[in-house]
Amino acid sequence: MKKCPYCAENIKDEAILCKHCGKELNQDKQIDKMAIWAFILGIASPFLASMTIGVVTGFVAFILGIASLKVINKENSGGKGIAVTAIILGAIYGLAYPIIMVLIQQGY
Ligand SMILES: [Zn+2]
Repeated sequence: MKKCPYCAENIKDEAILCKHCGKELNQDKQIDKMAIWAFILGIASPFLASMTIGVVTGFVAFILGIASLKVINKENSGGKGIAVTAIILGAIYGLAYPIIMVLIQQGY
């Protein structure tokens, strides 16, 4: 069960129309704010990676992306694609990039 945002009556999770007030639901799902932040950090990381700040922002984007994905799945909110993109970007620049840099420095 979830609450109708318009009339606050309990309605089924699958409902697309509130039976109490007749308003349409899930029309434009609210995009999770954490997903947006994760996405911004993930996008910025490649530009910062050369200054090693990007590794930190990438890692934060990765963590935030996973956290926001959990919230999105739980609250059925929007922004799943954004969160997944942030996780991928975060994984590349926050995890893969530093590993590659270390390997290069080690002379592999
Ligand atoms: Zn309603």
